[in-house]
Amino acid sequence: MLNSSHEYTQVLMGTTVSLTLYEPNETVVHRVFHTIKLLEDKLTVNRRHSEVMSINAAAGKHPVIVSRAVFSLIEQAYKVSLMPNSCFNFAIGPLVKLWKIGFQGQQVPSPQQIHDQLLLTDPNEIELDPKTCAVFLKKKGMEIDLGAIAKGYIADVVKVVLQQNNIHQAIINLGGNVLTLGKSPLDKNGNWQIGLKEPFSLNNELVGIIQVNDKSVVTSGIYERYFTLNNHRYHHIFDPSTGYPLDNELESVTVISDTSLEGDIFSTILYGLGVKKAGNYLIEHPNLSAIFVLKNKTIELVNTDNFAFQLVSQQYVLP
Ligand code: ADP
Ligand code: MG
Repeated sequence: MLNSSHEYTQVLMGTTVSLTLYEPNETVVHRVFHTIKLLEDKLTVNRRHSEVMSINAAAGKHPVIVSRAVFSLIEQAYKVSLMPNSCFNFAIGPLVKLWKIGFQGQQVPSPQQIHDQLLLTDPNEIELDPKTCAVFLKKKGMEIDLGAIAKGYIADVVKVVLQQNNIHQAIINLGGNVLTLGKSPLDKNGNWQIGLKEPFSLNNELVGIIQVNDKSVVTSGIYERYFTLNNHRYHHIFDPSTGYPLDNELESVTVISDTSLEGDIFSTILYGLGVKKAGNYLIEHPNLSAIFVLKNKTIELVNTDNFAFQLVSQQYVLP
């Protein structure tokens, strides 16, 4: 059993990205961070130029041909945006840009402004042509935003890069998207220990510890990016039907799945469904597991075959 780990970090995608290996390997570290930068350059909407920004700039004018990889991620985002009862909507860009939550100039917009931008967020107004990899936003002002899934997609690509370089035990953490490869060399049962952050904790306390093996762990929460005004908290995941931040009984949802992309998609969708409907959905989908952290300080675990959870916080209870 190996007993030392090597952690490499860089600030990318507006977060701290870390890669943990069990034998030092500078070549692989370089390849991994280079891959992440290349993909961020294609997918970002927080800079003037990227493949996604070229689609947005041509909204209402003409289709834009993108790379096969970006197209296939857009196809998946399109599909989950049209799923019944899905709060996931990758055409949400105009609202994200209006509220600017977590960025300079964040604000509570007027109801009229929200109403106007909502009219530009219909995913049915997007045309995809798989033959040419062309994407067309039919109305001027429409903008796609892959912020809810870019990290998941990139984490899965990093896993492939590691495997191609013969690394089969590692942890990739893209600020909330944790992907574990293989079994942990530091644990006799091969389990990885992933801390689940306590929402709004000022000193990085944990609610509990998640144990998994060869799985992705993704958390979406209302405490990652938010601002407070007149005692009201406004966070960064929007209800596409109202244009306001989603509001229900949940503080966070953690999804345990095989791929980080699925985890990213479903942490958003399950959060939007709320704990009861999400629980019903998960009964039919045993390949996905979830940990719900509720505002009433209880924790619900669903489909516990794929993970173990140890509560450490005294502020929360497991029913
Ligand atoms: P993070 O890991 O940064 O907390 P999430 O995976 O929870 O991110 O996704 C939040 C981001 O997704 C927002 O910053 C925004 O870019 C985008 N977004 C916000 N609301 C929605 C929505 N209803 N559907 C899809 N994407 C959304
Ligand atoms: Mg997500």
